[in-house]
Amino acid sequence: MPDMTVPDANAAQPARPSTAYLDHLFHESEERRRSAPPADVAPSLLPAAVADAVERAAEALEPDLREVVERLHADPEPAWEEHRSAALLVEVLARHGIDAELGAHGVPTAFRAELAGAGDGPTIAICAEYDALPVIGHACGHNVIAAAGVGAFLALRGVLASAGAPAGRVVLLGTPAEEGSSGKEVLARAGAFDDVDAAIMVHPYGQDVAEQVWLGRRLLTWTFTGRPAHASAQPFMGRNALDAANLAYQGIGLLRQQLPPVDRVHATVVEGGTRPSIITERAVMRLYARSKYPDTLRDLSARLDDVARGAALMTGTEVEIVWDDGALPSLPVRTNAALTERWVAAQRRRGRDPLPPGVVSETLAASTDFGNVSFRVPGMHPLIQVSAPDVALHTAEFADAAGGAAAVPAAVDGAVGLALTALEYLTDDALRTAVHDEFVAHGGPLDVPTYFD
Ligand SMILES: [Zn+2]
Ligand SMILES: [Zn+2]
Repeated sequence: MPDMTVPDANAAQPARPSTAYLDHLFHESEERRRSAPPADVAPSLLPAAVADAVERAAEALEPDLREVVERLHADPEPAWEEHRSAALLVEVLARHGIDAELGAHGVPTAFRAELAGAGDGPTIAICAEYDALPVIGHACGHNVIAAAGVGAFLALRGVLASAGAPAGRVVLLGTPAEEGSSGKEVLARAGAFDDVDAAIMVHPYGQDVAEQVWLGRRLLTWTFTGRPAHASAQPFMGRNALDAANLAYQGIGLLRQQLPPVDRVHATVVEGGTRPSIITERAVMRLYARSKYPDTLRDLSARLDDVARGAALMTGTEVEIVWDDGALPSLPVRTNAALTERWVAAQRRRGRDPLPPGVVSETLAASTDFGNVSFRVPGMHPLIQVSAPDVALHTAEFADAAGGAAAVPAAVDGAVGLALTALEYLTDDALRTAVHDEFVAHGGPLDVPTYFD
């Protein structure tokens, strides 16, 4: 059969977006960094010998952390399929005499290990992620998160077993399925955080950042159902589901101007009909909705419902709206400043100075299921540098960085930061009071499972 494609001499490449706005964001961030006074935080709340011992213990774990960083990076597994990754982390813990429970809380690729101090006291959890993205692998650097979490936990083993150990416990929670999912919410609903008083983790990034904005996120599916008809002979007897999807897509576009600035709605049409000659009976759209606060995410949800119903009304079709389709909602991160200060102090020991809140533009915000944890118990989710500042998460360049020269030092420094923060939390009554007072002042715990009902 002859090739009937008409060659187009003017065929254009996709436009290459101007970097002007992004350049401004980085420039403004740099200006804010220069003018922000360094956070005034106490260097340590621990006896110097104790803090030094924890730091040396984390450094001594470098070969194990390198193995975790490199082996996970070389063998990326996507959400819910992290069997080899979880098994490797449990194996590394076992090598150090820690008996971790694989399949904890009914999730096959989750795990849990505990260190007990001297008797009853508070419990702090360290979250370790290890899922990767399909196709591009560890482009979010969760291999570094896993290494930092395991390193922090093992670095605390000696001090928690020593004569001067504080009361309380440290829990290491292996939390699968962050990408495109809400593994931590699944674990939370299974009780993983019921006996936890505070939770901490670190995420790799292009800069050292104490606190960044993370948006709440919900998944959504709209299925429009119309009536099929011959598109030439009797189109007036049809009701076009693709028209409804089209109007809904336009509706989202117009809605955007009336949304808060960092609200995000992204949509795809995954089904749009079968043949041009048949009026489309069924069209399916998949969407993500994101917002900066739980209540503004709830507002956005209601407005999107109206868009879908409006499009259905205009076209005489029916719409089925399914929220949280395939993944439970994730909330924005509520960062606990009192905990984060302790992270900053620990990072300064390592020659890093995490940027204070507000320096990195909130425009550059993504989402994480750690948000759901942070609305149950006080939490922190700081960022540690593994790449150049202009490298975005979820790119091939970031995947390279997560397996590159800066990844292992970040895992060690991350381990030191998480370990010292956890130990200070267990040891220092005034810190714990400040952490919990702040959590209550920001509204206390949310009933996450029923929040969007
Ligand atoms: Zn990610
Ligand atoms: Zn991530």
